[in-house]
Amino acid sequence: MAETYQLFIDGAWRASSTGETLSAVNPFNQEVWAQVPSAGGADVDAAVAAARRAYETTWRRTTGLERATLLNRLADLLEADAERMGLLETTDNGKVIRETRPQMVYAARVFRFFAGYADKIYGSVIPLDQRGMLDMALREPYGVIAAITAWNSPIALMANKVPAALAAGNCVVIKPSEHASVTTLEFCRLVEKAGFPPGVVNVVTGDARVGKALVASPGVDKVSFTGSPAVGREIAAMAGRNLRPVTLELGGKSANIVFADADIDKAVVGALAGIFGATGQTCVAGSRLMVQRPVYEQMVDRLAARAEKIVLGDPRDPATEMGTAANEPQFRRILDFIEGAKTEGARLVAGGGAARDGDLAKGFFIKPTIFADVRNDMRVAQEEIFGPVLSIIPFDEEAEAVEMGNASQYGLAAGVWTRDISRAMRMIHAMRTGVVWVNTYRVVAAQAPFGGIKDSGFGRERGEQGLLEFTTVKNVMIDFSDEARDPFAIKT
Ligand code: NAD
Repeated sequence: MAETYQLFIDGAWRASSTGETLSAVNPFNQEVWAQVPSAGGADVDAAVAAARRAYETTWRRTTGLERATLLNRLADLLEADAERMGLLETTDNGKVIRETRPQMVYAARVFRFFAGYADKIYGSVIPLDQRGMLDMALREPYGVIAAITAWNSPIALMANKVPAALAAGNCVVIKPSEHASVTTLEFCRLVEKAGFPPGVVNVVTGDARVGKALVASPGVDKVSFTGSPAVGREIAAMAGRNLRPVTLELGGKSANIVFADADIDKAVVGALAGIFGATGQTCVAGSRLMVQRPVYEQMVDRLAARAEKIVLGDPRDPATEMGTAANEPQFRRILDFIEGAKTEGARLVAGGGAARDGDLAKGFFIKPTIFADVRNDMRVAQEEIFGPVLSIIPFDEEAEAVEMGNASQYGLAAGVWTRDISRAMRMIHAMRTGVVWVNTYRVVAAQAPFGGIKDSGFGRERGEQGLLEFTTVKNVMIDFSDEARDPFAIKT
């Protein structure tokens, strides 16, 4: 029987004020496997009010050590529950268990990383020109954070925001994607078990209307959003009307650039991981593979041969390498892009449509697809597909790779494959992105700041930068001199 979930507000489980629910569909077999509440405006208001109350009455008064203890406890619970949480996320969005289970362990690691910061949020003491004055810049929490996430990795995306926000002393209202909400609600069971005070963490589920109501709420002090550039724009505009800061983690069309002097075996693995890992449904997908001519045909042949052998199947089976598109609209969108690339004249060398053999026909499976001889100005090379579709683009000179790599509205990540350290350094400087991987791809770490520029957004997650995003500076000046100062002169 499909489990029916409730909203988590003020430390309690509640039915939504609308009485409506959304069906959670397993993209592997299209079965409805859970019901998720569709929150109304009253629920959003209640969640924001609960977060505010918790912030004012308890959370802002906690010590860093108390917050760290709770965050570490939550990390332990999440790690101990990784198998079950991984299976739930796999059921919700079709991502393979090979990735979702380790992602839970990784999310726990991020919680521990920020727990370690909770009692080390230092301000600074600043020397001034004025004698007898002490200046301090204090780092303070904002208050109530709205954390809105996408469907591709609900727990990992949440973990990029929530532990940092909580460690810094904020309370949160989380709005997961309507396409994959279950694990974020399940996560609240762990929040309860860990013993967080009521209202510190709240979750409201539902579609865009819930996200809009949350961003528009005057009770929200900062918005942290992961999702598409189109929605990111709307959110930034809305937050602008309320004069609230935002962090935006948006899409990408990242260039993975292979020079002829690279370790080609490693580059093949990196290219595969870049586009077929997570079925290409990842913001950092290395969806434009630029290959220098001397190794171009070799790379195309090797990738095409490996792509045809990628094991598609039940995402819950550890032998499965690639799962489904996460939901039906995404499935249709990816297929549209594949047809579009064919009409644009790209050379199809692997895949090229839905996978329908046997059991696969029930799910939203797409064959790992590779187009060669793509031009960087084609739609398939410019728009984010968010699926297992690779565009391979040849180049001759380093300068051409830089120019094409940067000729994108996005600026999230870039990969560079070379054994030449000078070239690697030049490329690191030249790429207009927030992340550069050299001789590796799609590696993430709690310690390493992550985020983009241009249409990929602004602000950073993880690392110390990720913590500071959830703090604001209060400057304090103390006059400890006995001097009588002139009230009408500027106080220099
Ligand atoms: P989306 O923008 O459609 O939705 C994201 C979230 O915003 C959902 O929870 C949705 O309900 C909510 N939402 C929708 N409209 C809203 C509005 N007007 N106001 C407030 N909230 C609103 O994105 P998606 O389809 O869920 O996810 C795919 C996108 O996310 C891709 O572009 C991908 O690149 C991006 N992404 C980025 C990162 C990153 O860290 N940079 C990570 C994962 C995914």
